[in-house]
Amino acid sequence: MSTTASRSLCTITVRVQSEFDYVSSPTLWDNDATPADFEDTVATWRTAIHALWNKTWNNGPGVVRWNCATVKFEFDMPVGSETTDYHQVSVYADGELPGGTEYSNTDIGLQNLTARWEVGEDEVVAAHEAGHMMALKDEYERMENGNTVSLHTPEIASNQPQCLMAYTGSTFVTTLKEHLDTMMAALEMKSPFYCCMIRCPWELLRRLRWWRKPPPEFARDPFPPIVLPPDPPRMFRLAEEGPPRVRAFIANRVSDQETLDSDVLVRKLSSPSVVQRWLAAIGLSRVRDDDAHAALIAALSDRSISVRVQAARSLLWQGNEAGLPALLDALSSDEEIIRHPRTLARDYAHRILRRFASESFDFQPHGPARERVAAIERWRAWHERR
Ligand SMILES: [Zn+2]
Repeated sequence: MSTTASRSLCTITVRVQSEFDYVSSPTLWDNDATPADFEDTVATWRTAIHALWNKTWNNGPGVVRWNCATVKFEFDMPVGSETTDYHQVSVYADGELPGGTEYSNTDIGLQNLTARWEVGEDEVVAAHEAGHMMALKDEYERMENGNTVSLHTPEIASNQPQCLMAYTGSTFVTTLKEHLDTMMAALEMKSPFYCCMIRCPWELLRRLRWWRKPPPEFARDPFPPIVLPPDPPRMFRLAEEGPPRVRAFIANRVSDQETLDSDVLVRKLSSPSVVQRWLAAIGLSRVRDDDAHAALIAALSDRSISVRVQAARSLLWQGNEAGLPALLDALSSDEEIIRHPRTLARDYAHRILRRFASESFDFQPHGPARERVAAIERWRAWHERR
């Protein structure tokens, strides 16, 4: 198995093996990036994943307890591909995966997940993806009006960290006891009763009640296998109704395909549904005709920032810079865009700009507002020089 657990007395070790392969060539995030830079990126992800799951992130306590046992997380994350019993992560250049990180597997789980990430995914996103490798699902959805809703801890006080599987748009995040319950059920791991006698005798009372009930079972994901429907109407419907990772999968495939009917995409660009307009804007990145071009230009004034950013990206992919102002405006936004996992518009707009300009002007999407304003000034000056 790629994700395993072992126990020694009262210490449970969860081990995740995942391999990272860079597939977009020749450039990474800029023209001078080397394989060593890619190794550094993977090492940075690993450090963050390790810190978040072992609770040393942001000077956390560094102790993870689950039902009186201690839990330690180990992440083996080499660069490479095709090794048996390793989850496989193919890493693409920024902007190549408009839907976000995705999984081709039918089920989030423990064995041989096949994932696609962009090289610019931040550390919190990497830790969220590690959660999927330990059988955890997304805890957010998108409602019909285009707003995101957390399925977990929906009302978080301002001084409390956000739940990692529900929100990744800041660095103030944490893992939850419920996550450990789910993954230990999936890994068929139990904490022995004697750990409670040593460490927390009051837990025994709770245990005694448990003995009369069967332990909770790990619920498999009931969503059917992801197969890209051949006809666009079904594809658009699935993107709208499916969970976030299915939406990401479809969006990334739509961006790959060159055979989609451009009339259908142009029509979908004026759909009342924000998910449909968003998907159409992504699909049009490959279509080079006058109607498609005019529709993308019109979409730069869409009421949803998700559509504006994707329309700008699609135009850029065709060598047209008309969307640059929309991307620069998005740098000042506090809104989220449709993506997996949840991403701030300014974060993704900046990644597209950085890919295009091979510059960052020191813009930190999660940095202090004052520094961001100064970086946006530098980006605007760059645009005026063009
Ligand atoms: Zn996710």
